[in-house]
Amino acid sequence: MKPRSIPVTSPSLPPLEEYIAEIKSIWDTGLLTNMGPLHQKLTGLLVDYLNVKNISLFTNGHLALECAIETLQLTGEVITTPFTFASTTHALIRQGLTPVFCDISPMDFTLDTSKMEALITEKTSAIVPVHVYGQVCNVEKIDQIAKKYGLKVIYDAAHAFGVKINGQGIGRFGDISMFSFHATKVFHTIEGGALTFSDSSYEERLSRLKNFGISSPEDVTEVGTNAKMNEFQAAMGICNIRYIDHQIALRKKIVDCYREYLDGIRGLSYLSPQKGVTTNYAYFPVLFDEKEFGKTRNEVVEALKKEDILARKYFYPLTSRFSCYEGRYQEEATPVAKYIGDRILTLPLFGALNLNDVKRICQVILER
Ligand SMILES: *Cc1c(COP(=O)(O)O)cnc(C)c1O
Repeated sequence: MKPRSIPVTSPSLPPLEEYIAEIKSIWDTGLLTNMGPLHQKLTGLLVDYLNVKNISLFTNGHLALECAIETLQLTGEVITTPFTFASTTHALIRQGLTPVFCDISPMDFTLDTSKMEALITEKTSAIVPVHVYGQVCNVEKIDQIAKKYGLKVIYDAAHAFGVKINGQGIGRFGDISMFSFHATKVFHTIEGGALTFSDSSYEERLSRLKNFGISSPEDVTEVGTNAKMNEFQAAMGICNIRYIDHQIALRKKIVDCYREYLDGIRGLSYLSPQKGVTTNYAYFPVLFDEKEFGKTRNEVVEALKKEDILARKYFYPLTSRFSCYEGRYQEEATPVAKYIGDRILTLPLFGALNLNDVKRICQVILER
């Protein structure tokens, strides 16, 4: 019998009856969207869970990020990473900004703060780092640099739901942080996202921006977009938040299992836990050094594919190499990001993945 196929991820779903119970009220109230009662309820639950001061919910993470950029009125150049999902770079370009790519650290794959200051010019208005794979950026150093040069900081925290630094919610750092609640993320609302921030004065502008810029029944004060989270999305979030700790615990078991099987293999490395950080086990990225390991990352991908196991070259290529940006950026400007992008593979990881499958995945990877 052929072993079953293993996807790279699979969304967590609450028991169907719970979701039905949660959406039932929608038939009574007739409120399907526009910041209804379920939206308000989820807002409260997330402020508590994420340990943040303020949160604004959105229909997805990407539009949330664009609204954060507009709210802070960024201009000119923004220091950011090319080792990320398309959304981070696209949001900057779509908002008329110029991304200036800074290299990443080989230790945690987040922005290398020692290379940041050299890239700052009089046109720089902000830093947009990514807590990639839920690994936290050097938030202290980034804060120092931002203060020194008068820059804003927007964190792409799409991967970092529930992550904490010394007990403090990751969404407390920088001016604004963006979370994604897409179906593939640790916590989801089908599609969805949020911005968290400490300065309550952003609240009003964000509420307007995500609702066409409408400020009152008879006036529209800015050219806003439509990025509201609807009640069905909020209901999914309310159900999923009940199981989030359980989901993260299941992910931890799987990651521990991967680490056990892949420990001490020459030419194969993975990230170590960060000190003082409560992680969410969002991804399990593995780096293959072909000279030591004897196989390239691409050969490992092919071997897994033959066994119907899907792993993702996440993040390859770098966003600076997308054909939509052809001729605009030099991959050589970020050699560490290029090195890692060429060798990285994220292995299957989701709560329902069973430990025998983890063993099978590791066996295929290690087969010579
Ligand atoms: C998922 C993701 C986004 C975009 O979030 P959506 O909710 O899918 O719009 C942005 N940045 C990163 C790093 C992501 O992984």
